[in-house]
Amino acid sequence: MAMKRKPPAEARNQELYIGLVRLHVLHHAAEEPIFGLGIIGELGRHGYRLGPGTIYPLLHGMERRGWLRANVQHVEGRRRKAYAATAAGRRALKLARERVRELYEEMFHPESTKAAF
Ligand SMILES: [Zn+2]
Repeated sequence: MAMKRKPPAEARNQELYIGLVRLHVLHHAAEEPIFGLGIIGELGRHGYRLGPGTIYPLLHGMERRGWLRANVQHVEGRRRKAYAATAAGRRALKLARERVRELYEEMFHPESTKAAF
């Protein structure tokens, strides 16, 4: 995966975060169409330092899986792709949201959940 300069530990951990990044993208794409550069900025705001070499393949992959639909727009003579969540993407997001809630509860309120081991 291509990435910007960052500390080695963070680069290694990217593999761990990439599912969260996909969920984050899907979350925003379900609210309004998103653009590559816009989402790079938004993820940056959340501490993810990902470059175009990571984000564009990620968006294409999500489109291929049927979670996003791309719409080509022409803005001031330039071509850009807007990505919106599909119905399948929204369904996947709804299911994933429950998983996130469960993990969150276990990580931050361990007293309310009991591990099975
Ligand atoms: Zn966000």
